[in-house]
Amino acid sequence: MAGRGVKIVGGIAAAVVALAVIAYGVVMTVPSVQDALMVRVIKARLSDRSQAALLTDGGLHLAICGSGSPMPDPTRANACTAVIAGGHIVIIDTGPGSWKKFAQMRLPGGKIDTILLTHLHSDHIGDLGEFAVQSWINGRDKPLDIFGPAKLPSPALAPDSEGHEYGTSGTLDVVKGFALAYDADSAYRILHHGADYLIPDGARIVGHEIQTPNRDELVTVYDKDGLKISAFLVDHHPIEPAYGFRVEYAGRVAVLSGDTKKTESVERFSKGADLLIHEALNHDMVKLMEGPVKELNSPRLSKMLNDTINYHTSPVEAAEIAKAAGVKLLVYSHIVPPLVNALSEKMFMRGVAEARGDGDVRIGHDGMLISLPAGSDKVEVSNLN
Ligand SMILES: [Zn+2]
Ligand SMILES: [Zn+2]
Repeated sequence: MAGRGVKIVGGIAAAVVALAVIAYGVVMTVPSVQDALMVRVIKARLSDRSQAALLTDGGLHLAICGSGSPMPDPTRANACTAVIAGGHIVIIDTGPGSWKKFAQMRLPGGKIDTILLTHLHSDHIGDLGEFAVQSWINGRDKPLDIFGPAKLPSPALAPDSEGHEYGTSGTLDVVKGFALAYDADSAYRILHHGADYLIPDGARIVGHEIQTPNRDELVTVYDKDGLKISAFLVDHHPIEPAYGFRVEYAGRVAVLSGDTKKTESVERFSKGADLLIHEALNHDMVKLMEGPVKELNSPRLSKMLNDTINYHTSPVEAAEIAKAAGVKLLVYSHIVPPLVNALSEKMFMRGVAEARGDGDVRIGHDGMLISLPAGSDKVEVSNLN
């Protein structure tokens, strides 16, 4: 009896395999079947616009469109966080590769009305032009406002061999530079599609410098339909000013540290927050990288690696801040070094549980959505990728 049962099961399995092989053969060889499948996938993708509901569901949402750093990481774009609430999308930092990550989350790019820059390092501004042009293509028909820091107070740098001085530009100049770089692209698109379809006003980007506050002050940079975002100074010396942001909507609060070493202002403005997204560079892991780099006879690279340690926060230090501030959820972003497997994640998190105490902590990833529903103290984490 048992032998007969095995035979029946074996026969069914053989039939299933045979059918799968036939189906594969049909899909791979019959164009009309391929076309029908493609239309089906496109329809599913187009109807999957459910993320637009995040704008109007009454909650405050933060989506990570870049959780990496300048060190190449196959899964992480550079710094980028989308704030979604009250019918608006505000982007905080536009690091290289981050537009693509934002688009993959199927968020409505045309609803982006403002970009905030924590500071002007390249890993925070590289995709500014892409965010501007792509949000326009996706339906934004008014100019895009971009807020960021003023120029360095006193760079005092020697000019280069051609007499060019560095450190003379702030956000206004950066925005002007991007506008110039994308001017031809804007013209091409208007000429090609027509001004009725690509409203010329939407091609414009307008820079604003954040009024530098005192060390213990918040300065409001965005206040629309109940969504309020304020800037505060952090310590990313010698990059000055550099900002963190406090986001408030419907009684919920999220704080972003920006790039900073462990600093008191993040703790102060995170008091009682629902969420703290903090940058994190594991000092011990970066120090481990220095040995092999030196062996490659690259003292220059070794020095630069060492320099990164002194203006970034370790995961343990960020956990101490979150604990002291009583933050519900701590999420690491701007992660250094790249975490390529479970072992490196384990090393990255060494000592974090002890420092964090009872509070939640997560390693951020591109596509992560953190939702803070209105009228609730819940913190919900999901994945939009
Ligand atoms: Zn930086
Ligand atoms: Zn950075």
